[in-house]
This record gives sequence, C-alpha cells and structure tokens, in this order.
Amino acid sequence: MLHRTEGVVLRTRDYGEADLIVSFLTRDFGIIHTFARSPRKTKSRFGSSLEPLSYVKLSFWGKENARLPRLTQSDIIKSFQKLRESVDCFLRVSELLKVILICSPERDVSYNMFVFLLRALSEFESGCLNPLIMLSIKIKLLKITGFAPRLAGCARCGASGMNFHFSDGAVLCNKCGHTLGRTQSLSPGCIRLYDCLSRWTIEKIYRVKTDDGLIGELTSVIDSHVKYYISGESRQAGGQAG
Ligand SMILES: [Zn+2]
Repeated sequence: MLHRTEGVVLRTRDYGEADLIVSFLTRDFGIIHTFARSPRKTKSRFGSSLEPLSYVKLSFWGKENARLPRLTQSDIIKSFQKLRESVDCFLRVSELLKVILICSPERDVSYNMFVFLLRALSEFESGCLNPLIMLSIKIKLLKITGFAPRLAGCARCGASGMNFHFSDGAVLCNKCGHTLGRTQSLSPGCIRLYDCLSRWTIEKIYRVKTDDGLIGELTSVIDSHVKYYISGESRQAGGQAG
C-alpha cells in the first residue's frame, strides 16, 4: 500500500553500497524508518532531499506496520540548509533530533511533536546561537515527549528541595533523597527560570533578559539529564540508540 505524508529527516544510515535507511518524523505516522534504494549512487534530487533536517513530501510503500517500508519518493518542501552549514548549529539541533528519536515510540502519531519540530527548526535558523532560545526549545521538547525533569519541589512528598537526582529525573528533598547515584544542587533562580521557560511562549522568551549564569546552570542540568537518559536508554537497547 502506498502512503503519502510530510516529514522531517531525523537520521540517515548507510546500508550496503548505495542504499540508505532514512528515519523521519512524519505528520501522519509518527516516526518511521524507511529503506531508500540507491540515493547515494548519483547526485540526484532524491538523494539531496534525504539530508538530515530536510522537510519533505514523501511516499513510501509497505504494509501497515511493515518494519522497513520502501521510500519511493521524496521532494523538498524546505531544506533547512542553513542549519547544516554551521557545525555548531547542526550539533545542537542533532542533539534534539536524538531526543525525539529516543523518547518517541515508533509510529506514535503526535501531531504536536511534528508541528513543534518544524517551528523549532525555523527558530533555529534565525537564533540557533541564542542560548536562552535553545534552552527553552529543549525544555518544551522534553515536555512534549514526557521526559521533562521535575524541579519544582520534591517529586515524592512535595516538600521543598534543591537536589536534583539524575536517576529519578527529579528534585528530591533531604528526607526522600538517597545517596546513590549522581546529584546536582540547584539554585532557587535556576528552578524559577525552568518554571518560566516551561510556560512562556517563544515570543516572550525573545523579549526577556536573563542572567547568563542562570542560563548556564539550567543548561548544564538539562543537558546532563538528557545525556543521562540517552546513555541509560542506549544500554537497555543494546547500544542501538546512537
Ligand atoms: Zn520528599
């Protein structure tokens, strides 16, 4: 059965001499992994539409729930070329794509996630090097995927607490906290900033001035939380989540 939809290329992997496995976040089917025959053989439009971050119109052929349906067509709607030209931008955005790949179950249709990713890529094109925007997009993405850390009060009893426990993905108070595993002590300003960035719109975030130290502190805890989660997940999945 032929399916048509729109999607963003999250990742490509070489397969054999000239073929590719291309993973998309699609509008109608969630995350799908497809088999593309020979896009690497010639410098074709088909091949260049499969660069990571490309927003494309695609068709794929395969039964419902086929593990690796065949990609039959892909046409660029927007290439997001600018994001690939800057190594720094590309690395930062790639980190987000990794979060999407790991945190969203396959074929779980989340239209919100698709719309959010397109919006985020457009934001990055203009403000990829704005650390506050990057941070807020990362937090919003974690919220949508259900993997946002919990910083407002102890996750077990609700009492106030400042120690973030990576194994719990949450702050725990001194009574509920344990000595096992890695923790990070957070400042009250950092916790407040997290709360604001979770609720504020991107437009509002562009207008606010925030202390660089707080942005650095919150960025470090969010990045470590994501890394902690990704490395744990990779171990469970036998290292396939690279
Ligand atoms: Zn507690």
